[in-house]
Amino acid sequence: MYNWFTIEKIDDDTYAISEYKHWEQTHCYLLLGKQKSILIDTGLGIENIKTVVSSITDKPIQVITTHVHWDHIGGHKYFNNICVYEKEKEWIDGHFPMPLQAVKSNLLKEPCNFPQNFDVNNYKIFQGKPKSILYDNDVINFGGRNLQILYTPGHSPGHICLYEEDRGYLFSGDLIYEGTLDAFYPSTNPVDFMNSIKKVKNFDVDRILPGHYSLNVPNDFICKIDDGFSELYLNNKLKQGNGIFQFNGFSIHI
Ligand SMILES: [Zn+2]
Repeated sequence: MYNWFTIEKIDDDTYAISEYKHWEQTHCYLLLGKQKSILIDTGLGIENIKTVVSSITDKPIQVITTHVHWDHIGGHKYFNNICVYEKEKEWIDGHFPMPLQAVKSNLLKEPCNFPQNFDVNNYKIFQGKPKSILYDNDVINFGGRNLQILYTPGHSPGHICLYEEDRGYLFSGDLIYEGTLDAFYPSTNPVDFMNSIKKVKNFDVDRILPGHYSLNVPNDFICKIDDGFSELYLNNKLKQGNGIFQFNGFSIHI
């Protein structure tokens, strides 16, 4: 059987569902609670992620969106209970700000062994009504587990991280990962990005669970990224259009 998704266990009731075959190497996270299960993001939408989710849990699924970019909402079409942060509720509901052609070229940017039934000509950006709207500091209880919404704009205007204090998990979306941090689109904001990094630095984090690339992100990585952004800011370089800056283990594209 052709496995588009890779499933990795983070702990007994937390899973990463990843798309390593694609250059974006997206990660979605399935968190099992006693009442329901939470799915953080749904990936590229190239294969049916619901099949994988259903093989792990039969509880009702609530989908939480870290941000409304195509590589995080691709599988939303398979679910009914979708939540999005208030500042991106228009983006998900008919007003995604990027042309489909740009998204398609991004999907095809690097060679990829796509599943046989995938045809890029039929690819669509998910658009639909969210079931509920999320706000900063909301806490979602899903049965023995709590997830706190942290509003962390910069990569996109309504980007959020999810914090599970009991386990020290920070689901960091596209705010923190080992790769090129993107704040160069017109809809991004490099100074907000820096301030969001400073915000999450205040939380006790034992494990960073990123939206892309390696799952083994060292815990001092938040400080490293903070140093990188602060250096650019202090040197008056943190301005859009300035290009890509390399640091140890990551780069910043503004
Ligand atoms: Zn992303």
